[in-house]
Formats: sequence, C-alpha cells, structure tokens
Amino acid sequence: MLLRGVLILLAVVFVIWLLSARSRVAKRPRSVRQPEAFVRCAHCGVHLPRNDAIVDDGIAYCSETHRLAGPRETAER
Ligand SMILES: [Zn+2]
Repeated sequence: MLLRGVLILLAVVFVIWLLSARSRVAKRPRSVRQPEAFVRCAHCGVHLPRNDAIVDDGIAYCSETHRLAGPRETAER
C-alpha cells in the first residue's frame, strides 16, 4: 500500500515536471530571426547567447546601455 502511494506520488511529480519543462520551452520568444541560441548586438555587433541578450522590438542588444543607445550599424534591410 505504501509502495503504491509512493509510485503515484512519483508519477504526479513526473507529470508536473514534464509540463513545466514543456511550457518553459514554449515561452521562448521567436522574434529573432536566427534559430540558433546566439544573437548579434545591433549596436556593437558582438555575438552573445540569446538568454543574455536584451531584445527590444525584435532587435537584440548585448546590454541595457546599448539598447538605450539604439542600433548603430546598418543591420536593417
Ligand atoms: Zn552591444
């Protein structure tokens, strides 16, 4: 009886973990054109992981300072 309870508990924890992992993946913004996890700062051109980038209106920046400075290079087409 105790073993059954533990198994049910494990199953519930596993389902919750699965759902949270899936929603975490679905929440990733797809506004950046590159499918890779790297983006390019529109101000200085440095490449950085998308998780560390600041995305404003679909344009990625390496830092808050460069986001405020705005895109400098003519990356727009
Ligand atoms: Zn930058």
